[in-house]
Amino acid sequence: MTQPVAPHSDAPEPGKPLTMFGPDFPFAYDDYVRNPVGLGSIPHEVHGTEVAIVGGGVAGIVAAYELMKMGFRPVVYEADQIGGRMRSAPFEQAPGAIAELGAMRFPPSSTTLWEYFAKVAIETFPFPNPLAAATPSTVVDLKGETYYARTLDELPAVFTQVADAWRQTLEDSADLHAIQTAIRERDVPTLKFLWDKLIRELDDQTFYGFLAASKHFPTFSLREIFGKVGFGTGGWDTDYPSSMLEILRIVLTEADDNHRGVIGGSQQLPLRLWKRTPRRIAHWPDGTSLESLHEGDPRPAVTSIRRTHPRNYTIADSSGEIRTYPAVIVTAQSWMLLNNIHCDDDLFPADLWAAIEQTHYMGSSKVFVLVDRPFWKDKVAGGRDSMSMTLTDRMSRGTYLLGHGDGPAVMCLSYTWEDDSRKIVPLDANERMELMLKSLRAIYPNVDIRSHIIGTPKTISWETERHFMGAFKANLPGHYRYQERLYTHFMQRDLSARHRGIYLAGDDISWTAGWAEGAITTALNAVWGVMNQFDGQTSPANPGPGDLFDDIAPLRLSDDI
Ligand SMILES: Cc1cc2nc3c(=O)[nH]c(=O)nc-3n(C[C@H](O)[C@H](O)[C@H](O)COP(=O)(O)OP(=O)(O)OC[C@H]3O[C@@H](n4cnc5c(N)ncnc54)[C@H](O)[C@@H]3O)c2cc1C
Repeated sequence: MTQPVAPHSDAPEPGKPLTMFGPDFPFAYDDYVRNPVGLGSIPHEVHGTEVAIVGGGVAGIVAAYELMKMGFRPVVYEADQIGGRMRSAPFEQAPGAIAELGAMRFPPSSTTLWEYFAKVAIETFPFPNPLAAATPSTVVDLKGETYYARTLDELPAVFTQVADAWRQTLEDSADLHAIQTAIRERDVPTLKFLWDKLIRELDDQTFYGFLAASKHFPTFSLREIFGKVGFGTGGWDTDYPSSMLEILRIVLTEADDNHRGVIGGSQQLPLRLWKRTPRRIAHWPDGTSLESLHEGDPRPAVTSIRRTHPRNYTIADSSGEIRTYPAVIVTAQSWMLLNNIHCDDDLFPADLWAAIEQTHYMGSSKVFVLVDRPFWKDKVAGGRDSMSMTLTDRMSRGTYLLGHGDGPAVMCLSYTWEDDSRKIVPLDANERMELMLKSLRAIYPNVDIRSHIIGTPKTISWETERHFMGAFKANLPGHYRYQERLYTHFMQRDLSARHRGIYLAGDDISWTAGWAEGAITTALNAVWGVMNQFDGQTSPANPGPGDLFDDIAPLRLSDDI
């Protein structure tokens, strides 16, 4: 829920916002992107050099856009559609009504993402999360008991107790206030000192184990309630087996709070960047865009990547075409390199392959329907809304009500992760809808949701999508070392020559998988890597992530401890 992590009384002045700055690699990507001197430049002789980009999600498109601005010729391959997991499916019956099948809510702390939102004039609205200010009312339905509230204090006292227990646990065991202050102040030494200590202490700990070890969660009942109602966006118990570090990265940076949705759908960001003609661009004539360089569409799915003489990568695609490049950025989920894309065994060092193989993805399903109007605003006895944003332990788990105005509106009947997602994997869209309506009928016996539905339901399970195989990475305990290898891959100076020139980027390379901010920042790392490969450089006024790497590198844990 939205309230639990209350601001500390001596919190720093407003104006120093909490951002997704670090904590693992505290580089100010937002400032880097915002700086008018640009991300760097390359020698004239290499202008026009082709760089392959595997994947046209937001990471691939940002990488392609920035490389194009530097004077490279990015060649984007996309197996599915531009946007990847920023996939906004329109309801044909109502222009403007969108089912956000992937990313759907964005925290202000994702400041690099918001730089790109601003570039392409994305408009947003406050996202109706549980108990958020923009949410007229929230219903919590647990073990057959239903509670209606507009604010946390309207719920039974045990929910406030759980919220307080969470905040106190974070203070006692994760230095919440001190780390958030260091993030706000961009105080790198303090942030690294505090966070690196937590890495050593908590890499082996699950989220559930962290709670169970807290004196503030002395009973199973409190841990169970927390699992169902959680913090920020709602229930988190399907994440209980994840590494506690994953949860802390979200909480400490407020990635899970104050969300905004994108009017017209988040896919507009990669689609607009694809068409955008940058104001300042090296080598290419004014009016050049990714779309014009590709004569309309990206190339199709990559089917193989081979290392070829003398220091190239040869890529085959599903049309049968073969092309050779001196540099490649792979932004598709890294498991694609294990199954969908044939790769040389020696494409990466063995320890990087191990990290790719150990990657753990969360499953996630969503079920959407279009309704004739936001009927949930109709009042019932006591002046209550007839329906509310709903958190429940029933099959639907989270129901979100998305209506602007009086016309057709969208209901996300259900948003689930992991085991809750897998429970519905075999079902088709109508069967899923029926199941979710059954859950909601038990909570709202007097509301006839079905009579309002006017569109064919839309659904997805990311774990069964051929080009994704999971919604987003979630590291398990003991995975820190793998993550550190993946993230730092863009620093290639210590690799043998035969392993240089291919860069991993995207959501599952980032420290904050499941958040577009992380995907974008890894794309910027890869752009720096490619620029560096071709003897390019950043301006001293705007050093890049590789320039500052040695000062702020993520902690490297020895394999012998
Ligand atoms: C259910 C869900 C909810 C989310 N919610 C949020 C949220 O609320 N807020 C937020 O900030 N983030 C959210 N995210 C995360 C966000 O969507 C991702 O961080 C971001 O979209 C990832 O971008 P990417 O470019 O790294 O990867 P992707 O978007 O996965 O792009 C990779 C691309 O590679 C393509 N590809 C795969 N194989 C090949 C091949 N062989 N050849 C060529 N192309 C290939 C894929 O089709 C895909 O388009 C959510 C994600 C999911 C799934």
